[in-house]
Amino acid sequence: MTCMAFREVRDRMVKVRVGILGATGMVGQMYVKLLENHPWFEVSYVAASPSSAGKRYSEAVASRWHFGTGVPRNVGQLRVQDASAVEKALGECSFVFSALEMEKGAIRDLESKYAQNDIPVISNASAHRWTEDVPMLIPEVNYEHLDIIPIQKKNHGWKGFIVVKPNCSLQSYLTPIHALQKVGFKVTKVVVTTLQAVSGAGYPGVDTLDIADNIIPFISGEEEKSEREPLKILGKIENNKFADSSSIKISAHCNRVPVLDGHTACVSVEFGGKKPSGTQIIQIWRDFRSLPQELKLPFAPEQPIIYREEEDRPQPRKDRNNDKGMAVTVGRLRECNVLDYRFVGVSHNTVRGAAGGGILNAELLKAKGFL
Ligand code: NAP
Repeated sequence: MTCMAFREVRDRMVKVRVGILGATGMVGQMYVKLLENHPWFEVSYVAASPSSAGKRYSEAVASRWHFGTGVPRNVGQLRVQDASAVEKALGECSFVFSALEMEKGAIRDLESKYAQNDIPVISNASAHRWTEDVPMLIPEVNYEHLDIIPIQKKNHGWKGFIVVKPNCSLQSYLTPIHALQKVGFKVTKVVVTTLQAVSGAGYPGVDTLDIADNIIPFISGEEEKSEREPLKILGKIENNKFADSSSIKISAHCNRVPVLDGHTACVSVEFGGKKPSGTQIIQIWRDFRSLPQELKLPFAPEQPIIYREEEDRPQPRKDRNNDKGMAVTVGRLRECNVLDYRFVGVSHNTVRGAAGGGILNAELLKAKGFL
């Protein structure tokens, strides 16, 4: 074996040690579960609020572990740290996933402190989504936004950096829209109604007596995020910061529904200029591939957009787990009497929309040499 081949094999065998902030919550637990047998990463550090700090992880989540399979043994034995004690993480992990639920300003300050201390942060929280030099990443859509990282580090004097994930509500429709834009069809207007699972509200989340036999037509801040975040994701780097796309307008209605996992989006779109046929749209979705697929990243779905022909699909219970829970499943493409076309999309909110999406971000960052 040559020296270089040996080094490659060795690098693949030595896993990167990662931390999880908010490890005891709904999203944090999903990270622990999904990273159990990850080929590149291993969980070496877990942190949460002062009420969990000091306990073994298995003890801290004992009565609220969400999965049928037990807590992975190696993580169960870790001592939970107070997430605000950044110095405890030094030397314990190479980067952290942030799944904290606290007041927004407190999360922003804390994540910045990790970045300042040379611990890169991949965040699920919304605190830094509008920081002008922080990429809001969907790896299949705007991977070129990672080019801003050296500028971000310089701007803030950070040794590390911050990359964030967008809100889970927009995963079910933004990638299908981007796939159409990528081949030259300009989507200019979007009207979307989301039907969002209860796990999106964290644990214990929505009260049973509010959501059983019911739909709640309001999720605080969600419509604003669904309408604004895509503009940054579809935007460009200009003058060392992100400039929003001005070519698309979105109107969103967000509802909480009695589904455990999997957000559904009912979408109508209008095209500016050339309009594709329905057959073309389905083919574009089926053919869509991007950098994570080219790089064969471990969490990348082989086919990011799956189109189902059945008239009653996609459905959250049947389609949320497609391709490790990382694919967006769409269906019911038909003409719209008001805009041009309408369709339905489903994606797993705590996998693609949260922990799985965060892991894919980390894989892309590692493949591109940032981690
Ligand atoms: P969650 O179940 O409420 O968990 C919150 C986590 O934050 C817990 O680990 C909690 O620790 C920790 N925490 C709370 N207060 C803290 C403090 N003062 N200091 C340090 N840690 C503290 O929330 P979640 O649903 O997992 O969401 C986590 C983040 O991901 C949120 O920012 C959310 O907006 C975002 N997100 C969620 C979803 C989803 O589908 N659920 C999707 C995308 C993004 P203790 O257990 O010790 O209290």
